Amino acid sequence: MKLHMFDVEKNEYVLSIHIRWMKLLAKISKKFRSVCETFTTFSEHVPMGLCFKSDGQYYIFMNDTGKVNDYVFKHEIAHIKLGHVGRDEKPGYKAAKQQELDADKYAFEVLKCKPLLMWRTLGLYCEELQDKFLRSGHNDVECYATYRATTARMKQLEELMGVEETEML
Ligand SMILES: [Zn+2]
Repeated sequence: MKLHMFDVEKNEYVLSIHIRWMKLLAKISKKFRSVCETFTTFSEHVPMGLCFKSDGQYYIFMNDTGKVNDYVFKHEIAHIKLGHVGRDEKPGYKAAKQQELDADKYAFEVLKCKPLLMWRTLGLYCEELQDKFLRSGHNDVECYATYRATTARMKQLEELMGVEETEML
């Protein structure tokens, strides 16, 4: 699996490396440690993104599961546009959940992300979270909360698309 780092101001990729080198970087730099954690939480075929602010600049990290997932990219851009990134205090659970919903809505309505791609990607997250929760013997409460939050994101998307779940299947 490859990881790509996108410089938002330059509007270009500034780094593309294999996850194994990122693991090495994580050993020497704290900044890359959280990047590593994010991208090793799920199996490699799950598209993931992460954005952060460093020295006043915004960067997005994305994995490559064949190619970079456009929804992941637009979702991260949405977080930046909505002012979610680089704040001093971390949002609480409820606020963080709302930020995810707002970023999805922005990606869909403003950045014109393809709804089916969004739906499939969120579906993959749900499956992964479900598996992880089962593997924990139904003990990973945080994982279950994220699963519930992700199903809420799917529900919002279906509402934005104006369809019922049954029509999608
Ligand atoms: Zn997000």
